Amino acid sequence: MGCQSENSIIKPGVSWNLAQNRKAIISDVRYKLKFDIPKDKIKPIAVEEFIDFKLSDLTNDVVLDFRQRADYIHSVTIKNKPVQYKVENQHIVIDASYFSKGQNSIFISFRAGDMSLNRNEEFLYTLFVPDRASTAIPCFDQPNLKARYSLTLIVPTDWTAIANGPIQSEKIINDKREIVFGETRPVSTYIFAFTAGKFKRVTQEISGRKMTMLHRETDLEKVARNKNEIFELHSRALSWMEKYTGIDYPYQKFDFALIPGFQYGGMEHPGAIFYKDVSLFLDLSATKNQYLSRAGLISHETAHMWFGDLVTMNWFDDVWTKEVFAGFMGSKIVNPSFPEVNHELRFLNNYSSAYTVDRSLGANEIRQPLDNLNMAGTLYGSIIYSKAPVVMKQLELLVGEKTFQKGMQIYLSNYAYENATWPDLIKILDNLSKEDLTAWSKVWVDEPDRPIVEYELLIDQDTLIQQLILKQSDPKKKKRIWMQHLKVRFGYDNDDLLFPVYLKSEEVKILEASGLRKPNYILPNGAGVGYGYFKMDSRSRSYLLENLPKINDSYLRGVIWLNLWDEMLYGNIKPIDMINLCIRALKTENDILNTQRILSRLNSTFWNFLSENQRAAKANQLESILRLHLNEATTVTNRSMYFRSLRSITITDNGYDWLKSIWMKNDSIKGLTLSERDYITIASELALRGKKDSQQILDSQLNQISNPDRKSRFKFIMASLSNDLDVRDNFFELIKKEENREVEPWVQSAVAYLHHPLRSKNSEKYILPSLELLEEIQRTGDIFFPARFINATLSGHQSANAKNIVNQFLKDHPNYTPALKLKILQAADNLFRASIIKD
Ligand SMILES: [Zn+2]
Repeated sequence: MGCQSENSIIKPGVSWNLAQNRKAIISDVRYKLKFDIPKDKIKPIAVEEFIDFKLSDLTNDVVLDFRQRADYIHSVTIKNKPVQYKVENQHIVIDASYFSKGQNSIFISFRAGDMSLNRNEEFLYTLFVPDRASTAIPCFDQPNLKARYSLTLIVPTDWTAIANGPIQSEKIINDKREIVFGETRPVSTYIFAFTAGKFKRVTQEISGRKMTMLHRETDLEKVARNKNEIFELHSRALSWMEKYTGIDYPYQKFDFALIPGFQYGGMEHPGAIFYKDVSLFLDLSATKNQYLSRAGLISHETAHMWFGDLVTMNWFDDVWTKEVFAGFMGSKIVNPSFPEVNHELRFLNNYSSAYTVDRSLGANEIRQPLDNLNMAGTLYGSIIYSKAPVVMKQLELLVGEKTFQKGMQIYLSNYAYENATWPDLIKILDNLSKEDLTAWSKVWVDEPDRPIVEYELLIDQDTLIQQLILKQSDPKKKKRIWMQHLKVRFGYDNDDLLFPVYLKSEEVKILEASGLRKPNYILPNGAGVGYGYFKMDSRSRSYLLENLPKINDSYLRGVIWLNLWDEMLYGNIKPIDMINLCIRALKTENDILNTQRILSRLNSTFWNFLSENQRAAKANQLESILRLHLNEATTVTNRSMYFRSLRSITITDNGYDWLKSIWMKNDSIKGLTLSERDYITIASELALRGKKDSQQILDSQLNQISNPDRKSRFKFIMASLSNDLDVRDNFFELIKKEENREVEPWVQSAVAYLHHPLRSKNSEKYILPSLELLEEIQRTGDIFFPARFINATLSGHQSANAKNIVNQFLKDHPNYTPALKLKILQAADNLFRASIIKD
């Protein structure tokens, strides 16, 4: 009962304390839910709910989570008698005296919260990850209180539905359709799901497995073109997973729904995966990359049925485990079907994206502490999605593929339908391997940052190597050791030499190197797998800056690009030299993945690290070179890459006129059909150049847009592009209000335009109020939005003044939310570096 110690657990959200207390005394949870869903999306949804569970201790009150107003609850009864309850801090608290040890049952009649029910005119769907089941229904909203759900939906007669469980019966009663679903296997609240509405149902059976797809696509040809492959991909992924894990598909049935406007690519609800429709229904003009992404997405979500759904993290601090395994299995399933793609080279994208965080002052660990589920959204980011896959690949290399697979099988069968922590898995692998994985995991998973790896070279008479020592150091001087297997590369004109090194201490001497001829360059991560800042000696650096385009192996070129980019950011390569290298490299590069990387480096160096004068001096040459590549490109993908790059960096008058003539359709690009979205982007870029005709271009673009969604978007962001500072000031005031931030992708684009490098002097004044807004944005926005908002705010700035504003803000707020502080420091990394990197 309401004693002191217990008050502390009734905070808003689900605190770790509350979750721990409940896990200790509550078990065998079953929800029986009946939703009465009216046709009109404004009308309330009435729900009747039985919560059955076992209770082993009666010391404390029973606390349910429900993030709605008290008047949403119509009644709470136990054994048919109404009970007294309190509604406080997003919880329903029921006095312990109503309960007995053992089996208990609560009945609640209430109005469902709409926030995560995504109600549209003709359909609705749940999306409860990470802690939003409790916005809709009263429940124990924590991943380790898995429950069985019996769901009944009452919907308009022309609606259909899917949910986690199989449909048991369906009938029409009083002009409504009642759909009863059978009881599910144990499932966490965040993946309990249903969707209902006017959908078309398509069912196929492949190798004895029946699957149903729900969709709303009206283009029947598009459906016909895509559907067989969509079913095939699911079927193949399921069979692959069964074979790899040794465990049959763990749920009663397998369906999926393709939903317009779905927030993510896909969400892994057991037996009822939800996808964004456009990620599976591909257009005729789809690129190879889109086919690869679709196959990857389907395999990723399917792999989650085992990794994440069957075995679930105990708490969201381990959310990365399910993501990394789904990604890992996804690649294993899909890559062999796309032999023309250099998958190793593609994997390097993970390094590049993880490094943007790990080299910043806001580096976070893979496994981050989490006190309350209402902060779970801040855990997502490049470290989870990009560093974790690198670390997992290293783990597999460390223990071997067979042992790794065996460990996974034990993990899945030991914890089936339950929860596990990362240490639980490491313990299993540790028992199977001779490596000390617990120590390994401590630095790679529980610590932020990356090692600095460099070497000490002694050379005899300027030609022969006397001694080579590989060294690692801790950027924060805490003496942490990042154990990893490396292959040190000696680059010669012809055959390179590779020396395997297990760098498990501060220094390792490479004995085989003694007596060898001095190479052109030395690369400590010569096989690419290593993770860290691999600092070059000045000779290797100059050699590669000059000769990188001549290196034959495209994967190796990709690795060297990573290293050189680091060297520029640490001030060892001048931005203008980086630009010149990009220009030379584009001439000969023949792998599209590298071309893409080079263009993105070019772009970032141009806008973030060149001074205004340098940009002006370089612009003519750059624009004409990109124009040349654009004209010579032989594929749609190449043309489109060069054009996008060009429209972003164009600043000369000539370039402007050309871009405008494309926009006015007086000119065109041979072999590239521009879409409405392209024209909108061109108009926006033109307007940013601040010429006399800028407002005219914006107005006329708005008039030309035919698609209603795109029109409302453009109407919204137009003000952020205006040449008139007052208009931009007013727009900034507008988005300070929550109701004007409803469509977050629009806000993100507009904020990036407000702070575009061409406007950065005038937009410095928005930085401080934006920082002050961030905590509110975290409370009101979707999980990815705070980081995206602050990135958009800081990405266009490089002045000392902008840097001081950020630093002063952090100084003035010493007790600022730690997770958000990291996001600010991550977003500020280029800004902080820009003033250090001298031309
Ligand atoms: Zn996932």
